[in-house]
Amino acid sequence: MKVEFLPSTVGTPATKQFCISAVVNDTIAIDAGSIGLLWPVERQMQIRHVFLSHSHLDHVASLPLFLDNIYRLGPDCPLVYACEATIKSLREDIFNDRLWPDFIRLSEQESPFLELQTLRPEIPVVLPGLTVTPVLLKHLVPTMGFILQDGDSTVAVVSDTSPTQRIWEVLAATENLRAVILDCSFPDSLRWLADKSGHLCPELFAEEIHRLPESVQVIAYHLKPCFFGEIERELKAIRRANLEIGVTGREYVF
Ligand SMILES: [Zn+2]
Ligand SMILES: [Zn+2]
Repeated sequence: MKVEFLPSTVGTPATKQFCISAVVNDTIAIDAGSIGLLWPVERQMQIRHVFLSHSHLDHVASLPLFLDNIYRLGPDCPLVYACEATIKSLREDIFNDRLWPDFIRLSEQESPFLELQTLRPEIPVVLPGLTVTPVLLKHLVPTMGFILQDGDSTVAVVSDTSPTQRIWEVLAATENLRAVILDCSFPDSLRWLADKSGHLCPELFAEEIHRLPESVQVIAYHLKPCFFGEIERELKAIRRANLEIGVTGREYVF
């Protein structure tokens, strides 16, 4: 399984992510923070499935641009998967003709821009070569973590979230767990803000990964760029093999 955390900077590529998205096996996106900015545009066209964890802007920002960029006449269109609350937000807050044309209504009348698929907690979506199982996390709005399985490897994307329980239970019963990609948004000095905004800081992060076997690679994700250095220092102080900070643009193979 091939995973790339997408960069979101203009100019020199940076390891920091302002917007959140990852591409799996070139064809599946987890969140849409910057998929609509990918160059060359053929890379956008390769993406046929977009899984949204939740409705926050850093995860959906470039979805309207992406759908616009790859639009073509005919029945083929990308599938966008999200829980009910996120789909409601897409309908009411983004595709409302004010912020962006109502691609959802247009898709019912003309060549479609997208097809929406509702995610239900712990009901897997089976795609060619990859099964994606959504699991509810704990955040300000209903948010899904994703368990990705290709038969050889299992990888979990667990963001955005505060301390959570269910996904660790599901992962404990899952085979071939290779890596967990986990929210670590704030430094410990801003634990109060992590609490209030539904995120983790290194202290809480360490408690979450404590339940995982040492063999599992842990990749810190969603670090707020303005606190990057402080979070990085605190993460380095956690004594654990296989812990690293996700690097954008790098191809991870699991
Ligand atoms: Zn969020
Ligand atoms: Zn976020």
